[in-house]
Amino acid sequence: MAQLSDDCFAFAGSLLAVAEAERLIAERIVPVSECETVALREAGGRVLAADILAPVDVPPFDNSAVDGYAVRAEDLDGERETRLPIAGRAAAGHAAAHALQEGVAIRIFTGAPMPEGADTVFMQEDCRVDGDCVIVPAGLKRGANRRLAGEDVKAGAVALPAGRRLAVQHVALAAALGLTTLVVRRRVRVALFSTGDEIVEPGSPLPRAALYDSNRYLLAGLLARIGAEVTDLGILRDDPPALARALNAAAAAHDLVLTSGGVSTGEADFVRKAVESIGRIVFWRVAIKPGRPLAMGVIPGANTGADTGDGAAFIGLPGNPVAVFVTFVRIVRPLLLRLAGALPEPTIAMPVRAAFSYKKRTGRREYVRVTLRTAPDGAVEAIKYQQDGAGVLTSLTETDGLAELTEDVTAIEPGSTIGFLSYGALMG
Ligand code: AMP
Ligand code: MG
Repeated sequence: MAQLSDDCFAFAGSLLAVAEAERLIAERIVPVSECETVALREAGGRVLAADILAPVDVPPFDNSAVDGYAVRAEDLDGERETRLPIAGRAAAGHAAAHALQEGVAIRIFTGAPMPEGADTVFMQEDCRVDGDCVIVPAGLKRGANRRLAGEDVKAGAVALPAGRRLAVQHVALAAALGLTTLVVRRRVRVALFSTGDEIVEPGSPLPRAALYDSNRYLLAGLLARIGAEVTDLGILRDDPPALARALNAAAAAHDLVLTSGGVSTGEADFVRKAVESIGRIVFWRVAIKPGRPLAMGVIPGANTGADTGDGAAFIGLPGNPVAVFVTFVRIVRPLLLRLAGALPEPTIAMPVRAAFSYKKRTGRREYVRVTLRTAPDGAVEAIKYQQDGAGVLTSLTETDGLAELTEDVTAIEPGSTIGFLSYGALMG
């Protein structure tokens, strides 16, 4: 399952633009191909392997959209109220006993089949009942309050396309089609490590110079939300031979090996060196802030598993937790979707008004953590979190999302329009 083709990416090693990193990923990542059949209840978050053609119309028959009275439009007086005898009753789940005769109405309830001959339904709130008759107002159009068979989905049409990642509404549509199982691609297998001599597991004592691992918890949660099967391989020490052995073993049984820490420019870029000793680094510096040290590569792997072709893709995220979050949602998430065989799900930044000043360099994409508020004039405004260090986790916990400042932007002033990405949308 080589998820990256092995020809040269011809990348020189300088800062790579985000769009270029995205393009390399989109071109080179090969989706997993194995499929499995899952019950509808287990299908949420999975990726459809093939188009689903509707086996039936939805709705299956013409029916009433309201509780009221079904009539024939030609029986109505165009100018004034019409008085019609009530000639029967049609309830949901029961086919109408007989066709609608000329000049009468049928009492009907929401979801009940339209009696043959009836084409229009008056809402009961708009009608008056007088003995055995109903008095309906003028002015309702033919076909009002009637739902036609197949108006939602026509039998034979593509109801859900291959590659759709199934959210609850897609599962509901499959249920409406009467399906009980769906054929989906297998889950993407991800091996997850943290790295660093200073990183310790929550629950252990905290020695001097150490800090608890937050990245693995952040990433495990993000990976689970995107439907990946995660193998948590713990914390690796800054020891290149041991790192190389662990990465190599992980590559054999996974589609993606995901680490954090140890890929920066300093002396201590153990992970990048370990990958270079067993595979190839494709790029390792992206023009994104926070997150610049971001490595991507290929690990050929030990090729022991039955289902493993020639290794795994490798992504080495930065160590700082906010950089981990930003690079995951902007770079790793699209990669995982592609690996999973899912259609692209671009997250569109919503325009909001900046309530802060900010200076930045061109040529680099920056993500600023912001909180939203409604200004007195009704506009939605973004307020920048006061601490913007890449290691400040509270800049994620105390805000609503990221303001995306594109490469060409040099300054934000109060009143500038900026693009806002909510955490909910980024993690969905
Ligand atoms: P590095 O890229 O390894 O130099 O790490 C950059 C910064 O991120 C350092 O301050 C690390 O201590 C921190 N860091 C690395 N890994 C983690 C982790 N798993 N959880 C929290 N912080 C981390
Ligand atoms: Mg480190």
